[in-house]
Amino acid sequence: MPNSTIKVALIGNPNVGKTSVFNQLTGLNQQVGNYPGITVEKKQGFCTLDENTKAKIIDLPGTYSLNASSIDENVVIELLLNKNDSDFPDVAVVVTEVENLKRNLLLFTQIKDLEIPTILVINMADRMALKGIEFDIPTLERELKTKIALVSSRKKTGIKELKELLLNYNQMSTEPCLNASSIDPEYFDKLRKTFPDQLLYKLWLVITQDVNFLNLDRKEIESNFTKSHAELKRLQQKETIKRYQFINDTLKVGQKIDTSKATDFRAKLDAVLTHKIFGYVIFFGILLLIFQLLFDWSSIPMEFIDQSFANLSSYAKQNLPAGELTNLITEGVIPGIGGIVIFIPQIAFLFLFISVLEESGYMSRVVFLMDKIMRRFGLSGKSVVPLISGTACAIPAIMSARNIENWKERLITILVTPFTTCSARLPVYAILIELIIPKTRVVGIFSLQGLSLMILYLLGFGMAIFSAYLMNKILKMKHKSYFVVEMPSYKVPLFRNVAINVIEKTKAFVFGAGKIILALSIILWFLGSHGYGDDFKNAETIVTTQFQAENTTIDEEALEDAINAYRLENSYIGVLGKTIEPVIAPLGYDWKIGIAIIGSFAAREVFVGTLATIYSVGSSGEDEETIKNKMASEVHPVTGKKIFNFATGISLLLFYAFAMQCISTLAIVKKETNSWKWPAYQLVIMSGFAYVVSLIAYQLLK
Ligand code: GDP
Repeated sequence: MPNSTIKVALIGNPNVGKTSVFNQLTGLNQQVGNYPGITVEKKQGFCTLDENTKAKIIDLPGTYSLNASSIDENVVIELLLNKNDSDFPDVAVVVTEVENLKRNLLLFTQIKDLEIPTILVINMADRMALKGIEFDIPTLERELKTKIALVSSRKKTGIKELKELLLNYNQMSTEPCLNASSIDPEYFDKLRKTFPDQLLYKLWLVITQDVNFLNLDRKEIESNFTKSHAELKRLQQKETIKRYQFINDTLKVGQKIDTSKATDFRAKLDAVLTHKIFGYVIFFGILLLIFQLLFDWSSIPMEFIDQSFANLSSYAKQNLPAGELTNLITEGVIPGIGGIVIFIPQIAFLFLFISVLEESGYMSRVVFLMDKIMRRFGLSGKSVVPLISGTACAIPAIMSARNIENWKERLITILVTPFTTCSARLPVYAILIELIIPKTRVVGIFSLQGLSLMILYLLGFGMAIFSAYLMNKILKMKHKSYFVVEMPSYKVPLFRNVAINVIEKTKAFVFGAGKIILALSIILWFLGSHGYGDDFKNAETIVTTQFQAENTTIDEEALEDAINAYRLENSYIGVLGKTIEPVIAPLGYDWKIGIAIIGSFAAREVFVGTLATIYSVGSSGEDEETIKNKMASEVHPVTGKKIFNFATGISLLLFYAFAMQCISTLAIVKKETNSWKWPAYQLVIMSGFAYVVSLIAYQLLK
């Protein structure tokens, strides 16, 4: 058993392959969580260095420098400045890559100035020959006062050497590699005299970065050392220039680039993929392909899962002693878990495709391409992925918004994504369109029903974009959006990175949103299967007597369906449906539709199933025709008018298009924003809006 653990902070610019190095070091031995109170992902993992020593690796968010401009960067600074933090590293590993070493080293020199033992990893060594790059490692080590591991996480080389360096971290020099205080000697001299025990560079960061972990008297700093904002900015710039001078000098002696060996393949591909016209055509072609595959590939496992859980439920029902507990298990818990598992194929496939696009370097081109358009609506180029993924399911879509670095853009994306028409709305749309839109053709070719469906999809997208635009105006948030166009080189995706990403995202869904989905499914089950009145308790006797009194003979199954319908009518949820009837009547709905709407909060596709139960249609597939017929012939008891007429149908379609009706989505929004506030807003505003729109539609059309 290892008896000592070294704490290692893994730091680096985005896209240098930090995650790949982390994966190489820790394998699947990782945990993902959030930093307390914020939505930045916190990843850590363990790796064995030798029989006595383990390393706890903390993968810090990708950052360009220690000059904080985002929450992600703040996380890095706060950890590195706070010796009391339980994660404060014994050793920092700064990951860089061969092609962008110059820019990557800026962060390295800053970390080094904090006088923490710092190892430099130069990753992607496999690309050196291709790019005609050579390093003089001993010279670089001397100039940078560090130890270097030349790694290729793709070819799995250099990892052993890195572990070796980690083991011997305490022999490393902690000397800073340049003296930043020369940017304003007088000022820094004064600082040094006032705080003789403190590290100068740390003091400087505390002053410029609005963090304070040195237990200093902030007032004292502020009264003696404040400079105007402009002055501080000027000094920071001076510091950056000085750092780059140092880096240039170092690379001059430690790096040789022979560009004649490099290929221009990348430039050619970029010209096509970011082309004003072809760029978009190719992108939409790829999207189309992804969605086809997503639907095709996931429909098979989804059906299998659906069937398996149904079988499991009926198996359990037959084999467990009849009673409340069995009902809870077979009607609440098993379908609840099924309701989580059923999303797994879609989530896994979506993230498979997204990771491949990201890993290959293509996603950066898409983001570049879409950014100009999306920015007008307060979104980012990266919002394209969630908005389009939303047509499958809002849950993986909202999770994919994690790629958006800017918090405001990410939040807006998360909030508007549920407007896109997800696949759960499809069965609802299908049956309603079937009921109210005639089967005629427009211009001889387009079916009116098909067009209606398309309009509903467009309505969803339109609402998403429009509300993003509004929110961008309303939300007051510090919004520093540097659009750093990072154009990594094209690469064949690493299987390991893709696989780990898919597993991580799926796990996050199952254990994050899954718990809430399960809990709410059980609550809905309870409300639908329990009631307080005698009508509920004696449903069986009442229905049977009724049939006997009417002298009608019906088969056992139909009787069972009728009893279930009567029970549902008198259950809590049924009573709830009747209670809300006055509220939904102006929209053209009766209590039965009310029940279906309440049920739809578990998942919208429940709409059809719930109505089937209420209209006592058996639940086997071939009965869909009958549900439709029953819905079509349903009349209002007082007015005698058809319930599912054109006005109600349109009103319902609009309601389902706009209302926030999916607890799973609310659960994932809570998880991703780390607060109940945003899902609550979504629920109230979206549903309120849906109510008003449906009300207007019904009142105009009836
Ligand atoms: P991060 O943003 O720093 O976490 O970077 P990732 O680990 O996600 O890697 C960014 C890209 O670089 C991915 O496409 C990786 O496949 C690729 N990559 C990572 N390590 C290597 C390597 O050693 N060699 C090559 N050629 N590519 C790599």
